Amino acid sequence: MKAEQIIFATGNAGKMKEIRMILADLGLEVQSMKEAGVDVDIDESGTTFEENAMIKASAIAQEIQKDGVRAIVLADDSGLEIDYLNREPGIYSARYMGEDTSYAVKNANLIQRLEGVPDEKRTARFVCAIAAVFPDGRTFTTRAAVEGRIGYEERGQNGFGYDPIFYLPEYGMYSAELAPEEKNRISHRGKALEAMKKVLKQAAGETDYENIDCQ
Ligand code: IMP
Repeated sequence: MKAEQIIFATGNAGKMKEIRMILADLGLEVQSMKEAGVDVDIDESGTTFEENAMIKASAIAQEIQKDGVRAIVLADDSGLEIDYLNREPGIYSARYMGEDTSYAVKNANLIQRLEGVPDEKRTARFVCAIAAVFPDGRTFTTRAAVEGRIGYEERGQNGFGYDPIFYLPEYGMYSAELAPEEKNRISHRGKALEAMKKVLKQAAGETDYENIDCQ
């Protein structure tokens, strides 16, 4: 049986816009959790981006299956890894210094922790993992990263979170200085979604999910 719908486990409208754009040509309806009428409190207790994404996707999949809905459930988990800080804040990026602490404070703190650290040791990356749970129970994950460095100050007005301290040597600018379309084009989330789209494309045309070599 085919799935005609994708449900993405996020309540973030900005993310949904980007996700819909990228997945548009699959020809499947893409709904947010809220649009699908699902509301689950999810404890991100995993130790990797993949595990956390899979925890979210599985929780939603369980919920919709109770209602007999056959949909592919996707979820993402992302964050910033700073090599000099043993890849902190990593999976704790949103929770770093507390969920309610402003990014002005979080960013200033990270710059301070890197005081005196030379360019070559300021390497960092934004990572995104996407997990998929199919109606037949099969699961897949994809991951992508954008490499950069932690800057010496905050720059730029665009983006969100750690964008103002993330310097992209290839572009000669900070992530928060990129135009939104440009950031979407090169982003960890965009790239992980493109990879997931390839997995879904292989599966979407099939009458069942057997014999699909997706990984
Ligand atoms: P989540 O994947 O929505 O849980 O986001 C994790 C956290 O990682 C965000 O709250 C931000 O702190 C950080 N993060 C993830 N992607 C980006 C990005 O593109 N720019 C800036 N910060 C990001």
